[in-house]
Amino acid sequence: MRAFRAIPIALVLALAAAPAAHADAFKPSKGDQVKLGKRAAQDIRTKEKVLPSNDERVRVLRKVASRLLAVADDGKDPWEYSFDVINNKEVNAFALPGGPVFFFTGLLDRLSTEDQLAGVLAHELTHVRKEHWAYQYADEQKRSLGLNLLLIFTKANNNVGNLASIANEVFFSLKFSRKHETQADELGMDLMVKAGFNPEGIKEVFQILSRVSGGGKPPEFLSSHPDDKNRIKKMDERIKAMNKTFPAQKALPWAKVGE
Ligand SMILES: [Zn+2]
Repeated sequence: MRAFRAIPIALVLALAAAPAAHADAFKPSKGDQVKLGKRAAQDIRTKEKVLPSNDERVRVLRKVASRLLAVADDGKDPWEYSFDVINNKEVNAFALPGGPVFFFTGLLDRLSTEDQLAGVLAHELTHVRKEHWAYQYADEQKRSLGLNLLLIFTKANNNVGNLASIANEVFFSLKFSRKHETQADELGMDLMVKAGFNPEGIKEVFQILSRVSGGGKPPEFLSSHPDDKNRIKKMDERIKAMNKTFPAQKALPWAKVGE
């Protein structure tokens, strides 16, 4: 997430004595995750080149997302999803806590089927639905009890700009654990299959990404798994274990014929 280091996330962090009354004392509530994600998303939309709603890539992304959400069964959860495309060559996608999801054109342009796109989306949606960011945040706070950072949200706060960089660090420096990545892989695949997509799509995404060269950090969904061959193998095993026939993958409108 290096590209976003400069974004002052409008999240307010304050030093405070956190009441450690219960096990989840450090975990931001679902409502707070939604507020946090929304504010961060607004920041990103004003500072990055976000494609307009009538752009084909945005329309396809939202169409695929709505198919996944239709079967997601989030019940009474407060998640407020949004789906945007950032015009940037970075090969990446990420979900903010509470629901906002961003794809980079650098990733979308490399995908060739709706099923591949659905696989990435389902993975990211699982991070949201399973509150991975919030659990990771809570773990970090437990590790630094001396600081006792407590998340608070205020509506009228223009005098806290100096805290923005701290917030930015906290927000984007958190890495999902391997356990969370595995869960996002597994439940994400289940979700895409439930929505009628072909799970070969997500396996192919990792094959595509493993070929993406260049320095810097690997994409979010590869970052916690240095051994992507093992990850692809596990996906293959999971697909075979389903013992089902899946619908043919559907080509994306911008995919080049023969790819
Ligand atoms: Zn992930």
